[in-house]
Amino acid sequence: MKIPLPPGSDRFTRRFFMLCLWAIALVSSVITAMVLPSLLSPNWWMWLLLLIVVMYAVITLATIAWKRILSTYITKPFAQIAESAQLVSGGVTSARVPLATMPSSEAYLAAEAVNTLADKAGKDIAEMKKLERVRTEFLGNVSHELRTPIFSIQGYLETLLDGAIDDPEVSHKFVERAHQNTKRLNILLSDLIDISKIESGEMRLSFRYFNLCDVVRETLSSLEIQAQQAEVALITNVINNGEIMVYGDKERLAQVVLNILQNAIKYNRTNGSVTISVEIQPQEVTVRIRDTGIGIPPSDKTRIFERFYRVDKDRSRSVGGTGLGLAIVKHILEAHQAPFGVESEVGVGTEIWFILKR
Ligand code: ADP
Repeated sequence: MKIPLPPGSDRFTRRFFMLCLWAIALVSSVITAMVLPSLLSPNWWMWLLLLIVVMYAVITLATIAWKRILSTYITKPFAQIAESAQLVSGGVTSARVPLATMPSSEAYLAAEAVNTLADKAGKDIAEMKKLERVRTEFLGNVSHELRTPIFSIQGYLETLLDGAIDDPEVSHKFVERAHQNTKRLNILLSDLIDISKIESGEMRLSFRYFNLCDVVRETLSSLEIQAQQAEVALITNVINNGEIMVYGDKERLAQVVLNILQNAIKYNRTNGSVTISVEIQPQEVTVRIRDTGIGIPPSDKTRIFERFYRVDKDRSRSVGGTGLGLAIVKHILEAHQAPFGVESEVGVGTEIWFILKR
C-alpha cells in the first residue's frame, strides 16, 4: 500500500540521515587516511584506498540495515494501521489491525486506537440502522392503524350516499358505526401524541408527593360504566379516606393506573373481576392490578410493552385497543425508575405490578 507522506518531511529525514552517514564516512576516511600511514607505512595512498573501500562497504551495510529496521518498525505496521483506518472510514467496520503483529509500543497504541474507533463506529452504525428500522416500522404501523378506521368511515359514508340514507334504520346504524370509528381515531391520535411526546423528551414530568389513594379512587370511578358494560366487578383494598403518599408525576401515574385497569377490563370475561391492591413497604409502595381474564401466553409476556404489539389483534381492535397503552405505561414507569412486571396464566388471569417510591 502506498502511503501519502506529509510534504517532504519523511523524505527529508531519510535524506538527511543518509547525508550525515556519507559525511561522517568521508571525514573519518580522510582523517584516518592521513593519520594511519604516518604510523604504519609510507604507502599512505594504499591505506587511503583501502579505508575508503571499507568505509563505503560499512555505509552500504548500514543503509540496508536501516531500511530494514525502518520497514519492520515503522513503514509496515503504520501502513497496516492506515489501511484499516481507511477501510473503517469507508464503512468496513469489521476491519481490525492485528495487535499481536505490532513491533513497537507506539505502533501498538496507534493500532489499538484505530481498533477502538472501529468498534465504536460499528456500534454506532448498528444503532443507527436499528433506529431507522424502528422508525420505518413505526410509520408502517401508524399508517396501518389509521387506515382501518378511516376506510370504515369512508365505507359507511359511501353506502349512505349510495341510498342507504333513505332507510332510517340502516342509516342510523351506519352513522353510529362511523361515529364509533371517529372515536377510535381520536383515541389512537391521542395515544400517538402521548407516545411521540414521551419519546422525543417533550413530555416534562412534574415530581411531587401525592396521595395514591385519590388516584386509585378517581380512576376506578371513571371506569365504573365501562366495567358494568363488560360485567366485570372492580375491587380494591384502598379505603375511602385512606392516605398513601408516593413520589412521582400524579397525572402520568394516573394514566398508568388507567391504562392497566382498562386492559384488565377489556381482556376479562363476563362476570370476572379486577382487583387493584396497594401494599405499603418502608420505602416503597407496590401497586398490583389483577384480573380474571384471558391471560397472556408466556412467549408474549415480554413483548406486550412494545408499541403496537398485541397478543390477539382482532380482540384488541374489537375492544377499542390501539396497541399503545402498555408502551405508554412502560415509558412513564421507566421515567420514574419504577420497577414493573407482569405475571399471567392463560385462561386464569393476569397481574401487572409496579413499585413507586414513598
Ligand atoms: P391494546 O390497546 O391493544 O390493549 P396495550 O398496549 O394496552 O394495547 O396492550 C398490548 C397487548 O397486551 C394487548 O393487545 C393484549 O393482547 C395484551 N394485554 C394487555 N393487558 C392484558 C390483560 N390484562 N390480559 C390479557 N392480555 C392483555
